[in-house]
Formats: sequence, C-alpha cells, structure tokens
Amino acid sequence: MDLIPYATQSIDDADLAAVREVLSSGWLTQGPAVPRFEAAFAERHQVSQAVAVSNATAGLHIACLAMGAGPGKIVWTSPNSFLASANCALYCGARVDFVDIDPATRNMSVAALSEKLERSEREHSLPHIVIPVHFAGLSCDLTAMRALADRYGFKLLADASHATGGSYAGRPIGSTAAHASVFSFHPVKIITTGEGGMVVTEDEGLARQLRLLRSHGMVRDAASMLFPDANSGAWYYEQQQLGFNYRMTDIQAALGASQLTRLDAFHAARVALAQRYDSLLKGLPLRLPVQPADCISAWHLYVVEVISGVGVAPRALVFQRLRDAGIGVNVHYFPIHLQPYYRKLNFGPGQFPHAEAYYAGAISIPLYPALTFQQQDRVKAELVRALRT
Ligand SMILES: *Cc1c(COP(=O)(O)O)cnc(C)c1O
Repeated sequence: MDLIPYATQSIDDADLAAVREVLSSGWLTQGPAVPRFEAAFAERHQVSQAVAVSNATAGLHIACLAMGAGPGKIVWTSPNSFLASANCALYCGARVDFVDIDPATRNMSVAALSEKLERSEREHSLPHIVIPVHFAGLSCDLTAMRALADRYGFKLLADASHATGGSYAGRPIGSTAAHASVFSFHPVKIITTGEGGMVVTEDEGLARQLRLLRSHGMVRDAASMLFPDANSGAWYYEQQQLGFNYRMTDIQAALGASQLTRLDAFHAARVALAQRYDSLLKGLPLRLPVQPADCISAWHLYVVEVISGVGVAPRALVFQRLRDAGIGVNVHYFPIHLQPYYRKLNFGPGQFPHAEAYYAGAISIPLYPALTFQQQDRVKAELVRALRT
C-alpha cells in the first residue's frame, strides 16, 4: 500500500527549468535571483521589505538580534510550536518564557498574554519581544496583540513559518500588525526552496539591519563606510557588526520564485481539501480545526484532536494504527517547555495546561496540494477504524 505522507512538496517542470537556468547562469549565490525573489515575495505579501535567509530559524535569530534581544532581555513565545520559535531567543542570550494557547485556535491566547503582561509589569519583568506563532497557518489575533505591544512596549515578531498564503483581516499574513514576520520554505511547508526563509517588515531600518546580520555584518558601498579614508579601492569592505552567513543561494531563490507563482493554486487546493475534511470527519470523536471570521488559514496542517471517552481508542493507539495502515500522520507539537533542554531551564509539566491538553490529543493528518479525494477518503476510513477501541 502506498504511504500517504502528512506533507510533501510539489515540484513541477517550471521549477526544474528555473533551477537549471540559474545553474548555467554563472551566479550560484549573491547574484540577481535573490533580490528578484525578495521583490516578488514582498509584492505578493503587500509589504515593502523582504529579506531572504538560509532558513526560518536563521531569520528568527537575526530578527531577535535586530530587535535588541540579548542578555538581560526576555522573549515570550507559544509552547505549541517548533523548537526554533524559542531557541532563537536563547541564541541571543535572552531569557525565554511561554504564553499558553487558546484551546480553540491552538494559537497564543490573547487573554493569557494580557494577564501575564499585567503580572510582569508589576514584577518588572516585561518581555522585550513576543513571538506569536501562526499555528497550522491560522493567523493569531494580531490586532489585539499589537495593541498590547504598543501599550507595554514590546516588539511583535510573528513566526509565520506555517502561514505563507494565509490572510488576516483581509490582507496577506505578514502585511499587518506585527513588526516583522518570518516565513519558512522547508519542503513540508507551503512553498519550498529546499531550505530557506524570508523575513518581512515595513521597517526599513530593521530590514537594513537584517541584511547586515545575514552577511557577516559587512558593508561594501562607500556611502555606508565608517572609515571611508581606507576605501582606497573597490576591494575594500568593512565589518561593522558581528554577523553571520545566513544567505540564501540563487539556486534556492530561483526555485522559490517559481514556487511563488503557484502559491494561489497551492492555497486553493489546501482550502478545498480542508473543507472536505471538515465535512468528512464531522460526527467522529474528534475536535476539528476552527477558523475565526477574520482569518483564512494557509492550511499548512490539518490537526484533529482525539476526544477521549468510552469506546474511543487512546491517541497513541490511533496514531500507531494510522501509521501501520500507511497513513503518514505526525504530531505537532510536543510542547517546547517539556523538552529536556527546557526542563533544565526550570520549565515543567502543568505550567501551560492548554498546550499540554491539546498535545495529548493531537494528530496531524495528510494535507498537501497533490492529495487526492480518493486518498482523503482512505484517510477517513482508516481514521474511523483506528478510533474504535
Ligand atoms: C519549520 C518551522 C520553523 C523553522 O523553519 P526552518 O526553515 O526549518 O528553519 C520555525 N518555526 C516553526 C513554527 C516551524 O514550523
């Protein structure tokens, strides 16, 4: 029986041609393909600045640095996310804490955030940056979060790794409310560059800083030199800050630009499949994803939660039965604060109960543009079987 994965990329002839063209162009990196992809991504997302990076983790790292994260600073994120949403702050020497999720949307809860901010203000431990995660492609309530950011003076850095193609308040995710948003182009995500990421912002100064940090903190243009006297020739460059090599290659950018032209088609396919799951799975002992009125999810993931009860198999057994039946299910996410590394930082069970309760039931079932209705019907049939005790 064919394995149906939980997610996979869609590569077509145009993608292959775009990559082939770069390979024979003479520019494998630092050529014209990266700025071209950045411009196309910015236009599609209705933002003025887009900075391509080697992966979203790198993007989160330098966005945290550019926003001033460092020793003595505090960064908050969602426990229901991939490790990178929290690790990026630790890379900067900042301290990490978490804000529990809203069980309905599975995103960072605005009520929990607001409460924690009130408490932290009294205790003089307000965060410098908050990193909400648009889980499964569904936007967080960014308008409310931005109001809190303005009131308490923190930066809002959205982890939009799941969210390419989604929208919020009638606009593309990335264009509203957050100070910056970071997208991932890992092959399981919405569009791919193999490895890759993009940071978008309306803040030109922040974008300039991101470009510096992405490439060794190094400048080449004479107008930006701190010691122009030494600029005696075109060979001269200056390192002005401690940056990194977090560049995207032209090979990746050409693939990304080609993928971006099919983003709307990918998204339409995901929306249709998600709606079909909604009706296929109604009536089963499962909690299905919800979508607030002002959001259109990018539908990176379709996560069901097994509602435990009499006659319902436990989640672990449902999961194993699906895997055994060739359905490539996965679980997103084991709460970050329960990871051994984070337990060493004094986190532990019971601290973020909604994220823990959500995790106990969660299963991500297959969702990607090339999934057929027939395969979807098979997922449903196996799910019905797996849920029985
Ligand atoms: C995939 C992912 C990342 C990391 O993306 P990379 O491009 O693999 O570095 C960060 N946050 C979330 C929520 C992700 O899903």
